[in-house]
Amino acid sequence: KDFVVTIDGPSGAGKGTLSQLLARELGATLLDSGALYRLVALSSLDKSIAVDSVDELAVCARDLDVQFSSSASGVRILLEGRDVTTAIRDERVSMQASAIAALEPVRAALLQRQRDFAGHGPLVADGRDMGTTVFPRADFKFYLTASAEARAQRRYAQLVAAGETVDMARLVADIEARDERDQSRASSPLRPAPDARIIDSTELNIEEVLQQMLLHVSV
Ligand code: C5P
Repeated sequence: KDFVVTIDGPSGAGKGTLSQLLARELGATLLDSGALYRLVALSSLDKSIAVDSVDELAVCARDLDVQFSSSASGVRILLEGRDVTTAIRDERVSMQASAIAALEPVRAALLQRQRDFAGHGPLVADGRDMGTTVFPRADFKFYLTASAEARAQRRYAQLVAAGETVDMARLVADIEARDERDQSRASSPLRPAPDARIIDSTELNIEEVLQQMLLHVSV
């Protein structure tokens, strides 16, 4: 039977890695919903659409021409045929994604596109509102979180490995500010679904979180 697993939570809690591992383990399709918001962000930046042009942004989201294709190097993301897998991770795109994700018409325009991922075999859906808004009747729901310090520490390690110089206190402050923004927005604020299993990964490594998840996904 087709089942849906949702993984929600703040950024930096390890959702991306865990949802990929879980999808592989379960032979499931992966929905990276954050990528959709990033694609709308990139597309709107390319078209120079301002963040206050809400109707144009919603049209942009509705008409998004995107393909997710599996390759030897992982999933490649194509926007209007162009490979934007790396481009959507730019800081500029992250900022724009966070701004447009607060707009209800943009969220509404992406809703059906996200739901269309279900029904073609098992699905693991990664995001902020997968268990609350997009798949409220999902079979298994997780809310993955970690302390702001732990998430900042992981981000710090990534940035240092990439050769960047970073200020730890600044990272913690940024993460706390983003949490506050995500949790207080009017449209689909970040919060656990009432029936979600909450996993705090502050003291757990990836393998330990994966094992906890597999324990609860009985198929
Ligand atoms: O997870 P990721 O960092 O790729 O998400 C990009 C942006 O889209 C973030 O600002 C996040 O708050 C937003 N987002 C959202 N709802 C989702 C997934 C992501 O609002 N389901």
